[in-house]
Amino acid sequence: MNSETLVWWDMDSCPVPASYDASLVGPSIHLALEKLGYRGPVTITAVGKLKHTSEDVLRAISSTGITVKYDPLSRYDSFSDEVESWQLRNPAPASIMLIADSSLFDLWSRDLRSLQKERYNTLLVYRSAPPKKAPKLVTSAKWRWKSLLKEAMASDGKLEAKRQILQEKRSKRSFVCTLCYAAWRSVEKFAGHLQCLDHEVKKFETAIDTDCLDNLDQEMMEKELEELECFLKEEAKLYRRTKVTTKLVKRASILLAKKIQWEELKKKLKERDQLASQGKHERWKEFEGMKKRKFVNEGAESSRQKKMRLG
Ligand SMILES: [Zn+2]
Repeated sequence: MNSETLVWWDMDSCPVPASYDASLVGPSIHLALEKLGYRGPVTITAVGKLKHTSEDVLRAISSTGITVKYDPLSRYDSFSDEVESWQLRNPAPASIMLIADSSLFDLWSRDLRSLQKERYNTLLVYRSAPPKKAPKLVTSAKWRWKSLLKEAMASDGKLEAKRQILQEKRSKRSFVCTLCYAAWRSVEKFAGHLQCLDHEVKKFETAIDTDCLDNLDQEMMEKELEELECFLKEEAKLYRRTKVTTKLVKRASILLAKKIQWEELKKKLKERDQLASQGKHERWKEFEGMKKRKFVNEGAESSRQKKMRLG
């Protein structure tokens, strides 16, 4: 088969295993496809919230031509959009390989079935074993995520040779933020963006109705929460079951926390606009730079913690 294969890798449900060299993921996928006779071009997109993925892992993944996409929202929309635009460039027969948890295959099953009707091959890589009640999909091939990576490791020198070829070919603009519709070639700039104020505000606005938060009175909310907590204490003394009030307190405190977070973000935005109007861009850049360094350290720490857990 010499037509193109699109690979959609959900990094949240199928992360790079802790002890695995992230720069070998791309070559491993290529080798698994080649083994089955898929010899056409391969486009790999790694999608996720990237919360626990360090800068080093991102750099290693992208070094073999994988596009990394930050996407905290509906993975269904993200997948549909990508497949739709890919189909325009790649009429059937062509292939789509999906690397995800089985719950996502359920979510995508209708799209996958219609792709199959249009003569596209679907190849599925499950995080663990396929569930007993798997969606009725006619797949051309199935793998388990960790087995696919492990099998490639056992392919003698082929994996290393593949990595070298892919690293030489590396495509441009490998990092994308789907919230802000922006792309970067450098992982440092991408990581910096994920920590910057504009991105933080966008993320917040997408997750919650900020107009509604604007209309809330913080003082009144704090007072109401206090009253609810007092009521909860009284209720706990009198009755065994306090579920209703506990729920109300939880909901009120979450809303209050969001309100406080939103007010802080607005304050920072105001501060930045003031600095910008005074021509003090450099001071702001310094502030953003400090946050970026924090991100790098966090990444290093999390991989260290992972190692400790394994060891
Ligand atoms: Zn962004």
